[in-house]
Amino acid sequence: MARYTGPQCRLCRRETEKLFLKGDRCFTEKCAVERRQYPPGQHGQRRGKLSDYGVQLREKQKVRNTYGVLERQFRNTFVRAERKKGVTGEVLLQMMETRLDNVVYRMGLAPNRNSARQLTKHGHILVNGKELNIPSCSIGVGDVVEVKEASRNIGIIADSLSKAEQRGVPSWLEVDFQNFKGKVLEIPSREDIQIPAQEQLIVELYSK
Ligand code: SF4
Repeated sequence: MARYTGPQCRLCRRETEKLFLKGDRCFTEKCAVERRQYPPGQHGQRRGKLSDYGVQLREKQKVRNTYGVLERQFRNTFVRAERKKGVTGEVLLQMMETRLDNVVYRMGLAPNRNSARQLTKHGHILVNGKELNIPSCSIGVGDVVEVKEASRNIGIIADSLSKAEQRGVPSWLEVDFQNFKGKVLEIPSREDIQIPAQEQLIVELYSK
């Protein structure tokens, strides 16, 4: 599946908000949003008030770029979310949050979602004891996600895990830091998903 390969910080600057796409750097003063609080580009500092459509579009782009998926995949996820029971916006976020690459990141097995996606694609991740190299795969309650034994000496994994151990992981996950594995305890509620987005605006945008 294709993905965006341009500068990550530019995506945050476009939203004038931190999307935490890079890991450690996002928590330092080197963060581009902290240094320049206006959108990138020649007219970045001159942009005026957004239309209703513009506000909805920015909200959608923010969530899509946070999870690092392209438009078609995000739209398809929305269509599937619409067919499920529940509030569509919330279901959409839950579906994005339970993607395998996001679960690997949230468990602290990778410093950011891009690395999580790469570790998954390169076959370093097992789900319920079997290799699963599809980052978009949906992970359910009770599934165990772990790093393959032969891959546990990869520097960024150990480094990321030790930082996650200090920082803590979301309450819907349980992580065994010594054994490089974690389990999904429940589907995250909206409060568990720490993304400052107004998901109903995405629903409005796609419902036009
Ligand atoms: Fe975004 Fe992180 Fe870059 Fe800051 S350092 S602009 S939060 S990707």
